[in-house]
Amino acid sequence: MSLFSAVEMAPRDPILGLNEQFAADTNPNKVNLGVGVYFDDNGKLPLLQCVQAAEKTMMDKPTARGYLPIDGIAAYDAAVKGLVFGADNEPVKSGRVATVQAIGGTGGLKIGADFLKKVSPTAQVLISDPSWENHRALFTNAGFEVGTYAYYDAEKRGVNFDGMLASLNAAAPGTIVVLHACCHNPTGYDITAAQWDQVIAAVKAKGLTPFLDMAYQGFGHGIAEDGAVIGKFVAAGLNFFVSTSFSKSFSLYGERVGGLSVLCADKAEADRVLSQLKIVIRTNYSNPPTHGGAVVAAVLNNPELRALWEKELGEMRVRIKAMRQTLVDGLKAAGVKQDMSFITSQIGMFSYSGLSKDQMVRLRNEFGVYGTDTGRMCVAALNSKNIDYVCKAIAQVV
Ligand code: PMP
Repeated sequence: MSLFSAVEMAPRDPILGLNEQFAADTNPNKVNLGVGVYFDDNGKLPLLQCVQAAEKTMMDKPTARGYLPIDGIAAYDAAVKGLVFGADNEPVKSGRVATVQAIGGTGGLKIGADFLKKVSPTAQVLISDPSWENHRALFTNAGFEVGTYAYYDAEKRGVNFDGMLASLNAAAPGTIVVLHACCHNPTGYDITAAQWDQVIAAVKAKGLTPFLDMAYQGFGHGIAEDGAVIGKFVAAGLNFFVSTSFSKSFSLYGERVGGLSVLCADKAEADRVLSQLKIVIRTNYSNPPTHGGAVVAAVLNNPELRALWEKELGEMRVRIKAMRQTLVDGLKAAGVKQDMSFITSQIGMFSYSGLSKDQMVRLRNEFGVYGTDTGRMCVAALNSKNIDYVCKAIAQVV
């Protein structure tokens, strides 16, 4: 009898499982709208020019790879702080932000979750209904009970904002609330600036702990525009967590570049928090990898490369928006009677299409068009070559 004989087969990851099915599909017209990855108009994963330029400079002057400090490359952490809080703004200037380099946005969330379990062991965690599925798994694995706050309104095709506020107002003090800073995954519906003010007021009044997940900064309205929500939390005098991901914004998925920032009351507190974050990291994977962090730091800290990055990110954002409009027009032209214009009121990489599970299964089986069973499609995987096919396929199933 083996030690593992009673080990059960874990369920397949729903999205990665879809990828495997896609890879095995022999349909020559197949389109993968399942994963949250940006592809260019040729259906290719971009390697950004700013990244190539930074890598070239690095390769021209190769350096040995020693261990990084536990909290990562100092210039990287400084760049993350600048991007999230604004380098010239009070939180950074006063030194009350504790930032660590993390293994992707997921790593930032995980470090934050493990640290929170130490400081707030009995707190409940609330994630949006629905949310990126890993939010639930990650906080559950960190030892928390995870519930949801109301978010998506399927009837209205938008945010059930009254429900969201009601959920927050009903939460016990100390509840950790995971909020999508922008480009909500999976629905594509964000709340407005005025609604953020109301969320912040509720969070403050109820003494909740905000954890902002910033996985798509720059994909909504712009880097600064998407980051503005952070300024609102700062202005409200709150202490909070922000996880950052550069996976999409630098198209560096496999480099696992992300971060975690914790806004504390003052510098002394931030120093203590940082020391604890370092223990979480040290006891999990000791210290982060070098390459991706070095590339991002080189780009963000060099004015020319940074300008190039902003331009390239802007192009990705604009292309996704154009695809949303083309999708709405294409569906109409393909004979879809219902009003699909809600797709252009969504933002970021995803669209909750409103299609049922049965319709999504038909799209997959009959047309090789892959989205998740929940009806989520990645608009960032549409291009001028596959969009007609996708529109016609959708028209056949609705
Ligand atoms: N949060 C959200 C909402 C996401 O969509 C993702 C990526 N799909 C992440 C976090 C994780 O990002 P990363 O791949 O950098 O770990």
